Amino acid sequence: MKGWIVKEPFKLEKEEMIRKNASPEGLIKVKVTKSLLTLSDVLGFNGENAVKGVALGSFGTGIISETQPNLLGLESGRHVYISPYKPCAVCHNCQNDDFGKCSDMKIAGTDYDGFLRDFVDTEPGSLFPLPESVSDLEALFIDYVSLAVSIIDKLHIEKGDYVSVVGANFFGIILSQILIYYQAVPILCAQHKENFDIAKKSGVYYVLGENDNWQKEVLSITGGRMTKHVVYMSDSDIPIVKAFSLASYGARLVYTGISGKNSAFSFNQAIKKQLNIVCINSGYDNTETAINLIANDAIDISRFNIKSFPDEKAAEVLNEMNQALSEKGFATETMIEMK
Ligand SMILES: [Zn+2]
Repeated sequence: MKGWIVKEPFKLEKEEMIRKNASPEGLIKVKVTKSLLTLSDVLGFNGENAVKGVALGSFGTGIISETQPNLLGLESGRHVYISPYKPCAVCHNCQNDDFGKCSDMKIAGTDYDGFLRDFVDTEPGSLFPLPESVSDLEALFIDYVSLAVSIIDKLHIEKGDYVSVVGANFFGIILSQILIYYQAVPILCAQHKENFDIAKKSGVYYVLGENDNWQKEVLSITGGRMTKHVVYMSDSDIPIVKAFSLASYGARLVYTGISGKNSAFSFNQAIKKQLNIVCINSGYDNTETAINLIANDAIDISRFNIKSFPDEKAAEVLNEMNQALSEKGFATETMIEMK
């Protein structure tokens, strides 16, 4: 089993990986076919986030190569999505089998080996068979969809509700598409022209650009009420006060993101408006719902123009993503084909 590991900042090496379980009894062996590199991997690669000698690769799909008997849907040769979450198994909620509410959820590519590797040995519960109508590329965005579903659940969004989505990275665009699917009205705020254009072409009606006065536009769209739901993308470099400014008094604000990027900000405006701030970073319980939503065409990622490279190019790709991050302020997700 081989994987791409960050040895030191900007140094990625392919290494033989030590099998953590001496005997893989009860585990299923999956040949990883595709992995998605995200901002999280860039921050692991450039040293901003400490990754503890684990293989990078936030999300992955594969084909089952060795299985256990009598597992319906997990037969050898099945195309699967591999969950990027491992509950800690020791916290109070894990002890009570409420794994979705684990207070120390482990994330692939950060806390344990991600999917930039040839094989994964995993529990059957971490594997989700993919319907034929879900492509590999769409499957790599399952977690964006499941996180979007978690957010919609938490906000108690109803038909016709306006939702300010602050940050038009791919997660912000996918969340907006899912909001539209549930008949809510997202107002997506884009910091970068490139993402503004992609959002517009991806079916989001209200997209505000970098030169718009977001507060004024939201005021006008909502007839002066502002929005009682605001979602702030922690992966964006947008000051959070801009998100606070779009909220109505007592609104719910979700602080979320894919990367676990650190930020510091003042809560003054949030306190004045008595906002309810909720943090959501996992779609753990919604993976099956997300697969069904994708199979029902709830998202359209065709305009993302995701590029694809063989795994030997992973370091090169991460260097380029890192350069884009420092020059443009964002890095675009890239697919890696695993040999
Ligand atoms: Zn736990």
